[in-house]
Amino acid sequence: MAAMIIAGTNYAGTFPKFVFLFIGDGMAEADVRATECYFKDAQAQKGVAADTTQGLAMTKLPVRGTATTFSKNNATTDSAAAATAMSSGYKTANGSLNVDAETGRNFEPMAQFVKRYGMKVGIISSVAPNHATPAGFYAYAQKRNMYPEIAMQLTTNELDYVGGPVLIGGPEADVKARDAAVKNGYTIVEDRQGFDALRSGARRVWVRSKMSLAIDDKHEIPLADHVGKAIGLLAGPEGFFMMVEGAMIDGASHSNDGAALVHEMLEFDRAIAKAMEFYKSRPEEVLIVVTSDHECGGLSLDEEKIKAAGMSKILDGQKGSRNASAGEVFRQVEKGKMLFDEALPLMREFFGIQNINDKELTEVHEYFNKGGDARGDFSYGDNRIISLFWSRLVSARAGLIWSSLSHTDAPVPVYAVGAQAARFSGNSDNALIGRYMRDIIAESGGDAASTAVRLPQN
Ligand SMILES: [Zn+2]
Repeated sequence: MAAMIIAGTNYAGTFPKFVFLFIGDGMAEADVRATECYFKDAQAQKGVAADTTQGLAMTKLPVRGTATTFSKNNATTDSAAAATAMSSGYKTANGSLNVDAETGRNFEPMAQFVKRYGMKVGIISSVAPNHATPAGFYAYAQKRNMYPEIAMQLTTNELDYVGGPVLIGGPEADVKARDAAVKNGYTIVEDRQGFDALRSGARRVWVRSKMSLAIDDKHEIPLADHVGKAIGLLAGPEGFFMMVEGAMIDGASHSNDGAALVHEMLEFDRAIAKAMEFYKSRPEEVLIVVTSDHECGGLSLDEEKIKAAGMSKILDGQKGSRNASAGEVFRQVEKGKMLFDEALPLMREFFGIQNINDKELTEVHEYFNKGGDARGDFSYGDNRIISLFWSRLVSARAGLIWSSLSHTDAPVPVYAVGAQAARFSGNSDNALIGRYMRDIIAESGGDAASTAVRLPQN
């Protein structure tokens, strides 16, 4: 720890050539702490001694701060306005990407900005690259749901590495964008074999692979593997900017699903650890910033419970995500298909709840009889109120108390390490984070640009 703090300040005078921005979508301080407690408890359950237990990669970064996230028209932002702020340095209204709908003004996204300095660009996310957060780093759109238009902008921008699931907006738009990308010189990779075969020299790579929630399925290409591959392909004298999003932290939070949340957080953290390996090999040339676009779910922690032994066992007892997996259970046990007494063991089995008290039993019986939805803004997957009851129950037993189905205006954490990392300490704001990054790139750009000119084009 001490050595890293020294490293963080030693290189205060140098400018980075390799800049990472990690965005945990929907991630706030409580999510980080909950995941750290889960991880340590899981290790303790496996018999790892407490004093040798590692925490998360992100919380080991020496520079810490916080950031406000309000958008131009709302105290509570959405991912589009927040991505615009971190990418362009400007605030816009919720729903817009690098466009001010009121004035018609466009804000230059990060990809176009860093390209002017001859740097390479990587855009990696666990959701489709035309989804709000990744799109905010290269696209202009009045509305975030203009998916086909955003997809076409992906193909015309010279992004050097794109990683994530297939596009959203329908298969037709996906195929059209895929064809256009091939015409524009992109190499498309759609399986692990093709991914492993990628070698340095490959340019404009677009890796498309399924990424379900980490609790449901092991990813064919985990986020950390994307980061490792992108570093291998893009690290050269020109430098790079890489945005990496742990996107479904937000989806798990909208669902108030603590079990899914900790797995998404760990998936995201492993990607940060991968960038840390690169940082350690050349600390004076790398800047890593980790932050979030907004809080989601109004999560708070029951301190006694999250610190109690066995927290991980409670969360691991849940068989799959509320978003994607629980729906199957509830289709089976819907009223009319089954009596409550037959349904109860199936629900308990899926969520891993052994004991249920009378009050809880009355409540779940009521939801079973009445049915109905509980839906926040930008909700994903299963919306049944009865599944919300169960995911909140599992969370609460593990010490995770949810109070909202939507985003909140709570500030988000900032972690940083490397050259110029000190700029990210203290109380900040998402648009300031964008501006600091752009300032740093502009100030270091002179060197990078002149080196790039001397090199033969390959
Ligand atoms: Zn959201």
